[in-house]
Amino acid sequence: MTNKYMYFVANWKMFGGLNTLNSLNKVVNYLSKLKKNKLIKIIYCPPSTLIHPMSKKLQNSSIEVGAQNCHESENFGAFTGSINSKMLKDVGSKYVIIGHSENRHSGETNKLINLKTKSALRSGLKVIFCIGETLKEKRGKNTKKVLNKQIKIGLSGIKNKNKIIIAYEPVWSIGTGIIPKSKELFETINYIKRKVKDYKILYGGSVNPKNIALLKSINILDGFLIGGASQDSKKFIDIIKKTYN
Ligand code: PGA
Repeated sequence: MTNKYMYFVANWKMFGGLNTLNSLNKVVNYLSKLKKNKLIKIIYCPPSTLIHPMSKKLQNSSIEVGAQNCHESENFGAFTGSINSKMLKDVGSKYVIIGHSENRHSGETNKLINLKTKSALRSGLKVIFCIGETLKEKRGKNTKKVLNKQIKIGLSGIKNKNKIIIAYEPVWSIGTGIIPKSKELFETINYIKRKVKDYKILYGGSVNPKNIALLKSINILDGFLIGGASQDSKKFIDIIKKTYN
């Protein structure tokens, strides 16, 4: 049984339209009936198009809304297609995911991630800072080296520890249904904890109602970053329920 404050971050990726917002009713109702709801922090990170309507819809609940990325400057500028952290805050975001592997894969460097993180903090957003190794890096036994670099450069010059939540997401686990072995995950989380003392640390990558019992047994985790399963309210609630069973 978990009696710990836990984060459940829903990363909707590029899914969802206005008609999907009704699916949140189930989650809001579930949370309002729950005795332990003070222990649970749910953060929905929908596509940018849904941030404003979603934050309006959730304004009377304890659920908060975050974005999935932002530009590295909080100033307005001629950057077609980009959205900055101030604009995200303006429409109701409290958080922003930065450094997700899907964006690292499209060319985001540790240095750029560092600039984005600093900009988001200056705008008053909290940052869900993603790190994780690829399968090739894991096979090459480079996991620690990669994580160390992502942390060292990505968080360089940043002191606001209580404004950053680290999400460890092994790239080979995202969307594949494969999760790390318990021992391996425990060791990696401990390694991260040694590198970044006093940060909250989440696990992400194929979290679902079937494997949550195993994952929650890694009792040094502060919660989960959930992609696919978070788009289905029933599965998302099931994950939360099973975490506290
Ligand atoms: P997944 O995605 O739960 O679908 O593996 C997690 C993520 O990419 O944040």
